[in-house]
Amino acid sequence: MSEKYLKEYEVGYTPRLVMEEASRCLLCHDAPCSKACPAGTDPAKFIRSVRFKNVKGAAETVRINNILGAICARVCPTERYCQQGCSRSGIDKPIDIGRIQRYVTDSEDALKMNILEVKPRNGKKVAVIGSGPAGLSVAGYLAMEGYEVKVFEKEAKAGGYLRYGIPEYRLPSSVVDKEIKRIEKLGVVIECNHPVEDVKALKKEFDAVVVAVGHSKGKVLPMFAGKRFVKTAVDFLHEAKRRKGNIKVPEHVLVIGGGDVAMDTVTTLKLLGVKQVTDVVYETFSEFKASKKELEGAQKEGVSIIDGYVPVALKGKKVVFTHRFVPAKLEVKADLIILAVGQYTEAGLLGYEVNKLQEVEKTEPGVFACGDVSKGGEKTVVYAVRSGKEVAYAVKKYLGGK
Ligand SMILES: Cc1cc2nc3c(=O)[nH]c(=O)nc-3n(C[C@H](O)[C@H](O)[C@H](O)COP(=O)(O)OP(=O)(O)OC[C@H]3O[C@@H](n4cnc5c(N)ncnc54)[C@H](O)[C@@H]3O)c2cc1C
Ligand code: SF4
Repeated sequence: MSEKYLKEYEVGYTPRLVMEEASRCLLCHDAPCSKACPAGTDPAKFIRSVRFKNVKGAAETVRINNILGAICARVCPTERYCQQGCSRSGIDKPIDIGRIQRYVTDSEDALKMNILEVKPRNGKKVAVIGSGPAGLSVAGYLAMEGYEVKVFEKEAKAGGYLRYGIPEYRLPSSVVDKEIKRIEKLGVVIECNHPVEDVKALKKEFDAVVVAVGHSKGKVLPMFAGKRFVKTAVDFLHEAKRRKGNIKVPEHVLVIGGGDVAMDTVTTLKLLGVKQVTDVVYETFSEFKASKKELEGAQKEGVSIIDGYVPVALKGKKVVFTHRFVPAKLEVKADLIILAVGQYTEAGLLGYEVNKLQEVEKTEPGVFACGDVSKGGEKTVVYAVRSGKEVAYAVKKYLGGK
């Protein structure tokens, strides 16, 4: 039942195909792709190296600039970043930068390369709360600068949404494991099953504290609160990933929501063998939030997507929707309802209200917010990596480093 869910959806390039793709690159001066990467991964530079058969050089460029390079290669919405402005689009289609990056990081792994270097310890200690991509990024960059870094994670395994959110068919756990091992090798200690409740107590023990707790809660619309047959998408995806797809799901499932998390949910349901998956979406197709790739993937699996409807009532297990623009009504009955309507950070978490937590560095000297929980930036893995780099720099400055 779970075989399709466990198999990585996209296949990597062979050496011949990667050369063909790299040969399409125009080797632009002042390359738009490199300017558009939020983490500064510098595609133009690593593609040039691939083109001149220097895969080791390419791997160095990726890894030094992006500590989670193998993960970003698989999950980054490249159509919104590096590939969007690719000059090759004017001729035929953009270079498949994500897939070239995947080839490069897969080669780095196969060649057992050790690219990242650590400076001697400087005697300063930093605590990081949360081991998602933001926590891993800040921890890795600080460790390389000689800080003693300890990460506290409330779950049984590290990785945040990389581990328990993004489905196995898009991001295999084995890739996450290897990226985390790479960071641990830099000297970072990750303590799992350790929820932090008191930042101020940690502050007494460490010279600085970074809060990277993400948005781990799924939103619930009031009419669905407390119903046993209703789940949030993040809880469903968490369970599917933790149990390697080995979960029982009824035959008729209704999903409400139209972003990338909703697309992951409906595609996961289909890959797990659910017969009828209906997705009702607030946005119309012209306003759709999910990436084109994710939407097409869901449609290919046979998900029925109905756009432009708002849920207005719940009658038993039947949801009544009305259309946003035309006088139309829709009723959908399901055994399970999954809500993919957004994520949030718990108010009061760690003793701070959410708006205070987002910019905690402004009020609490030595405490910093990083990743989804911080203000500004998009809620993506590559932004979490960038945020980790920026906060590592801010921590270093605060602790008197140059
Ligand atoms: C289903 C899904 C699919 C996604 N797909 C993509 C994608 O394809 N591409 C993309 O770029 N982005 C994607 N995203 C978004 C991306 O995963 C997030 O933007 C990113 O994970 C944010 O990183 P973070 O480190 O800030 O938070 P998180 O990944 O949420 O990590 C936060 C960590 O903090 C831990 N924590 C929370 N409270 C405490 C506490 N008190 N003590 C200790 N630990 C604590 C949590 O357990 C968690 O491990 C997806 C998100 C979801 C939910
Ligand atoms: S913008 Fe496109 S064509 Fe130009 S260097 Fe980057 S990947 Fe190559």
